[in-house]
Amino acid sequence: MRITENANLKEYNSFGTSCIAQRLFHLKKETDVHEYQKHPDGYPKHKLLISGGSNILLGSQIKGSVAKIEWDGIFILEEYENHVLIQVSAGHSWHDFVIWAIDHEFGGIENLSLIPGHVGTAPIQNIGAYGVEAKDSIESVRYFNWNTGETEKISNKDCKFGYRTSIFKTIRRNNGVILSVNFQLTKNNHNYNTEYGAIREELKKYGLKKSLSNISKVVITIRNSKLPNPKLLGNAGSFFKNPVVGIDQLKILQKEYPKIPFYKQSNNQIKLSGAWLIEKSGWKGKSHKDAGMHNKQALVLVNHGNSTGEELWEFAKRVKRNVQKKFQIKLEPEVNLIEIEA
Ligand SMILES: Cc1cc2nc3c(=O)[nH]c(=O)nc-3n(C[C@H](O)[C@H](O)[C@H](O)COP(=O)(O)OP(=O)(O)OC[C@H]3O[C@@H](n4cnc5c(N)ncnc54)[C@H](O)[C@@H]3O)c2cc1C
Repeated sequence: MRITENANLKEYNSFGTSCIAQRLFHLKKETDVHEYQKHPDGYPKHKLLISGGSNILLGSQIKGSVAKIEWDGIFILEEYENHVLIQVSAGHSWHDFVIWAIDHEFGGIENLSLIPGHVGTAPIQNIGAYGVEAKDSIESVRYFNWNTGETEKISNKDCKFGYRTSIFKTIRRNNGVILSVNFQLTKNNHNYNTEYGAIREELKKYGLKKSLSNISKVVITIRNSKLPNPKLLGNAGSFFKNPVVGIDQLKILQKEYPKIPFYKQSNNQIKLSGAWLIEKSGWKGKSHKDAGMHNKQALVLVNHGNSTGEELWEFAKRVKRNVQKKFQIKLEPEVNLIEIEA
């Protein structure tokens, strides 16, 4: 376990904002979590766990300790005729795991290609894209509980997954560390999901048949054409969640905006497009100093250069206020605010 004093987390977060952490602990193996917990400057002064850093907006300073999840590995636990059970360590790159699964002809996560971040964080906000969510393949989560010092196995059902949420965002928030995630993937009879977004049209356009690798390739092409690469333009993907409203609120909105896009959810709720609301409020492509909303995807907050986390949040709050004024809808951040007052 390596420790750095006054570490700048700029290279560890996808917004590329500067943040000086009093102490940064690099947890290289799973057992380093126990060492960190016992270290007098470790868990007793704990402020933040950081993994891939692609879903956080950091304030300029963290007075305390940050633990960085760095252990990785993929292990096949059990193999059956039709499916396989795989354990993946928390610090493993999500996209590398997806590609590994496709190379082994294991299905279920191909639509989630190219999502940045690590495997251990995938259950936290139940990452999703193109009609598929991590919850569809997660069997269970291994979790180290800070309070009890015990490692627990939390079943899919007990993770209480929902749209961009899980128990790790509610009652288990900041309560422990996800050590690894178990996935159940298909070995044959794959359930290809090509209905969402432009996947089907893209497959047709290139004359590709439905397969795990072709779906992944198409998803990668679509994502690259739409979303800014954080290595070139600081961002954390969708900054706000798509708001979910009741049918009555949709009807009120439809009177004034008959073309408002909406997606019916299974529980009689309606998901609206946050990007559409932001665009109609006039914020798509707008910026102030180095903070802005992306010109192709209005839901993505971007750092054009040297914004601080606080400046980005101030800008995002202006967008949020305007959307609320125009549509009476409150946008909630999908990204985790760290040492920034919400
Ligand atoms: C360009 C771009 C596109 C994106 N597209 C999508 C998308 O399509 N769908 C989607 O769902 N998301 C998307 N995201 C968001 C992001 O990639 C995911 O939320 C990802 O799972 C975050 O992983 P991370 O390892 O980077 O998390 P981090 O940002 O490192 O951490 C996120 C939170 O989890 C906590 N945490 C970190 N590790 C652990 C652990 N082991 N145990 C417990 N808590 C922990 C942190 O303290 C923090 O609060 C996108 C982001 C970017 C930059």
